[in-house]
This record gives sequence, C-alpha cells and structure tokens, in this order.
Amino acid sequence: MIQEPTLRQIRLISLMIATGAMPLTTQQIAAFKKELLQQRAVLELAAEQTEADRAPVPLDQQSVGRLSRIDAMQVQAMSQAQQRKRDTDLRNIIGALSRMEDGEFGYCTSCGEEIALKRLAVDPSVRLCITCASSNETS
Ligand SMILES: [Zn+2]
Repeated sequence: MIQEPTLRQIRLISLMIATGAMPLTTQQIAAFKKELLQQRAVLELAAEQTEADRAPVPLDQQSVGRLSRIDAMQVQAMSQAQQRKRDTDLRNIIGALSRMEDGEFGYCTSCGEEIALKRLAVDPSVRLCITCASSNETS
C-alpha cells in the first residue's frame, strides 16, 4: 500500500520504536493485528460501497443516453481497477494474518530474516524484508 502514513500508523511506528528490539512482543503483534483487521474492514467496506459502480452498464438506451453510457463505462473501468488494487491489498492482509496464526509474522517469506519493525509499521502486510523486496524489484 503506497500512501502517506496515517496518524494511526505514525502512532504505531512510535510504539514500535519505543518498545525496541526483535523478536516481536505479544503486544506488538497484537497492535499489528489490530491494524491489519482495521485495514481489512476499510477495504471490505469500500468494496461493498462501490459495488454498484462495477456492475455491468445497462444496454437500455432509453434510460441511459449514449454519452452517459460512456461515462458509466468509465466509472465502471475505474472502479474495477480500484477493486483489483483492493483485492491485492486484501490478499496481502489475509496472508499476514495467517502468518500471524502460524507464528511466522514479522519474518521474510523469502529468506526467513526478520523484517525491520519500521517497515512493518508502515505496512504490516509486507511479507518480504527490505533486501528481498529490493532484489525483487531489480530482477
Ligand atoms: Zn528476505
């Protein structure tokens, strides 16, 4: 999720830095879980609220003129793209929650190293450490 950190995330980051060293404490994991569950709820709500925008555009030319049909199709395409992004984010969040269940949260799924706290605080759904993430981008 590439976006400006919210106030909640900034508070989370400060908490993480204040509480210090790895491995993650039960409290830290609980804070991340809360964050992930909140993010999931936001995404699910957004998906629900925009569902009508992604519905097939009716062919009925009487109720929808040609121009407004084009508008409606643009809205639909935009909404579909946004939903694909939300689906990706949701998959990452669900993955992080399931790693939490398995006691593997906070470890890189590629190399097994600990993921930096600051990185997790910005986005608790990340699954790669910074090293693996950057080598992924360049390869
Ligand atoms: Zn790694």
